[in-house]
Amino acid sequence: MSDQGLFIVLSAPSGAGKSSICRRLLAACPEIEFSVSYTSRKPRPNEINGKDYHFISREDFQRRIDQGEFIEWIENYGHFYGTSGKAMHEVLGRGKDLLLDIEPRGAKEIKKKFEDGIFVFVLPPSLDELLKRLEKRGHESPEVIKKRFTQAERELKEVMWYDYTVFNEDLETAAKQLIAIYHAEKCKTNRLSSKIDRFFKLC
Ligand code: 5GP
Repeated sequence: MSDQGLFIVLSAPSGAGKSSICRRLLAACPEIEFSVSYTSRKPRPNEINGKDYHFISREDFQRRIDQGEFIEWIENYGHFYGTSGKAMHEVLGRGKDLLLDIEPRGAKEIKKKFEDGIFVFVLPPSLDELLKRLEKRGHESPEVIKKRFTQAERELKEVMWYDYTVFNEDLETAAKQLIAIYHAEKCKTNRLSSKIDRFFKLC
């Protein structure tokens, strides 16, 4: 293996607290870059174009699908979401590490294409707690909350093929666990083979 960066794919049903855990990982490990997905949905208050997502029109998204720009893409609640293959290769090629916040269908596509990604699933403490958290967010209608909860129940079953599971019972502990996973993966011998080669050549 080369000096390419590694990537972590983090999935969780909405309401599991994934965004807060992501923020903590990125703050603790500034060498990790966040993969900014493309989406055709409209920005929510406080979301910044180019930082949270690249917000584009459906037509633009469709054109990019046709041009093969996405390494994976999905349609969710009538909106498109996708990861740019070029952007991902560019970051990893620079030797930087990358965090992708994507749902299980897209994560599975990526797992088929790359063998050495790190796949982490974040679970809420319980289904009851998940529903409470969805209701508390306050920016969505009961109908959307119900849809999100049904989808969450479906997505939760995907946990079994992920490499790691983090229960978000307490945000600080969950973030620490994710940071520990990252550091342990960085020390895997096969990821360090180039460095180990250089070490012996200099002896
Ligand atoms: P939201 O609209 O709440 O930001 O995101 C909805 C879901 O889409 C989340 O589960 C999020 O992880 C997922 N998502 C965001 N970007 C991508 C992407 O590029 N690809 C896939 N497959 N899912 C994404």
